[in-house]
Amino acid sequence: MISLQEVSKSFGNGTDRYLAIDAVSLDIEEGSIHGIIGASGAGKSTLLRIMNVLERPDAGKVSVNGRELTALGGRELREARRSIGMIFQLFQLVSNRTVWGNVSLPLELAKVPKAVRAERVQEVLRFVGLEDKAKSYPAQLSGGQKQRVAIARALANSPTVLLCDEPTSSLDPRTTADILDVLRHINRTLGVTIVIVSHEMDVVNGICDHVSVMEDGRLTRTYRNSQQDGVVPQDTGTPTNGAGETGGLGLL
Ligand code: ADP
Repeated sequence: MISLQEVSKSFGNGTDRYLAIDAVSLDIEEGSIHGIIGASGAGKSTLLRIMNVLERPDAGKVSVNGRELTALGGRELREARRSIGMIFQLFQLVSNRTVWGNVSLPLELAKVPKAVRAERVQEVLRFVGLEDKAKSYPAQLSGGQKQRVAIARALANSPTVLLCDEPTSSLDPRTTADILDVLRHINRTLGVTIVIVSHEMDVVNGICDHVSVMEDGRLTRTYRNSQQDGVVPQDTGTPTNGAGETGGLGLL
């Protein structure tokens, strides 16, 4: 469902050129919750942004739902991206729009008729438990509520994929657990495939059924996670640094 084939990405020029993503291949199953873990600077966010071609790779192919996104540009790519929602560590809400206005925004951009829009905004706000905050502004909300608004906004266009970039890194442990519950609920009830980038092993272990490890722009391992019981090796295929399965990751 999400397929990366030998994707690479460099930043900078000449002697300053830096290979941030180095020939990464990865298949993410439909309906799964897939974690990408690694130290800061390993390339996790860049890889996530490559999945919806917000960051265009220098080489390699990206396909989502059987459609090659790297072959698209302009309007076609914007339309294909509607089936891919995204949330961020710092929520990225529009401060001068209400909760309702924030959630409505992607539907306005997709030119959804007003009446359909209103119904959909109400539906997704109900889904994340924030119907009563529709008229509030982001500054009036807690961190957890802001992330719920961002999730509602990401769900507005009924995506099949939700990309999450450090979605709980600005939240306290209790709120982190709440947001992970919301993501689990989205996966189970709506069947949305979720990819979570995080440097927090607890987050990834707690919710992801598969985990990939990034080190210096390379994907070194992918595991099937036996929920909360640690990480069980699946197929490695690529070299590892020899660290213990959870021991090495726990230090991130
Ligand atoms: P992570 O999410 O694992 O912390 P990132 O994907 O954010 O890592 O970054 C990987 C590397 O690429 C880092 O060295 C970062 O500084 C660099 N990088 C990321 N985005 C850019 C950019 N737009 N311009 C230049 N360098 C970048």
